[in-house]
Amino acid sequence: MQAFRYMQAKTVDEALDPVPDSGPRFVAGGTTLVDLMKLNVETPHSLVDINLLPLDQVEATADGGLKVGALVRNSDLANHAEVKARYAVLSEALLSGASPQLRNMATTGGNLLQRTRCYYYRDIHYACNKREPGSGCPAQDGFNRIHAVLGGSDQCVATHPSDMAVAMMALEAVVHAKGTKGERQIALEDFYLVPGTTPHKENVLEPGELITYVTLPKLAAGTRSHYLKLRDRAQYEFALASAAVAAQVEGGRIRRVRIALGGVGTKPWRAKEAEAVLEGKPAQTKHFEEAAEEAMKDAKPLQYNGFKIELAKQALVRTLSVVTA
Ligand code: SF4
Repeated sequence: MQAFRYMQAKTVDEALDPVPDSGPRFVAGGTTLVDLMKLNVETPHSLVDINLLPLDQVEATADGGLKVGALVRNSDLANHAEVKARYAVLSEALLSGASPQLRNMATTGGNLLQRTRCYYYRDIHYACNKREPGSGCPAQDGFNRIHAVLGGSDQCVATHPSDMAVAMMALEAVVHAKGTKGERQIALEDFYLVPGTTPHKENVLEPGELITYVTLPKLAAGTRSHYLKLRDRAQYEFALASAAVAAQVEGGRIRRVRIALGGVGTKPWRAKEAEAVLEGKPAQTKHFEEAAEEAMKDAKPLQYNGFKIELAKQALVRTLSVVTA
């Protein structure tokens, strides 16, 4: 049996120091990974504690955006003055997630890498293609009320659970990562993968590659944004459907809009076709409804989750109404 290895890194390069054969896992707040280790869903041989890395700052970028370190805690990011003032959708999304205690622990990088809350994935007594490729997906014919209506495959229909990532998708965030081969930038839109035939691969990070920070571009003058989350209870619950919108309205017309949906897709779901419906149109309910239809036109309901389609449409119409009022 391979010996368990734990190390605490003080620099990014130290964290990336290759560990022979084991494929290290990074741990910071531990709000996903440690939970899953307790359930025996995750059984890493090697943990690299990254809490001491100098990645815990929110800074202005030269082009007027924000650079958010991967170790910035969710509560600090949600309450940061610049985030509240300029990126309300992000602050609102963060504050709608988890509990105050969890937000104090959870980090920006870790939040992006949250694992699904699919109950079959989290219970090792069930088969699960995501946990064990090729073993099956009991959610297809089982109780699938919380599962995805967009982006699923016959291999997996698990939703991505993050609220923060949905807001960042609407803000066109960019993920910065560093691995042993160097640094790279990945548009958040290209970061996540749909399950297809490889549901165990959820994003484009290489093994051992570390998220170092996330940048948010400067928003056009007059842009307003909002996050609306619909769920079974008001606190400490994951989205059944959510909408993140950032919109710039001039003279009553929508000049620019960015839309992402949560709770309905196998990844934080950017709704580009809905954006195209709206741009240049008057900010009116009938166009919001057209956009919502477009956003959900490819939805494929399972036995118990068809209600999410209407819920997501309503969430989007309501959110568009708020940001354009
Ligand atoms: Fe596993 Fe995905 Fe199926 Fe859930 S939906 S049981 S995570 S394969």
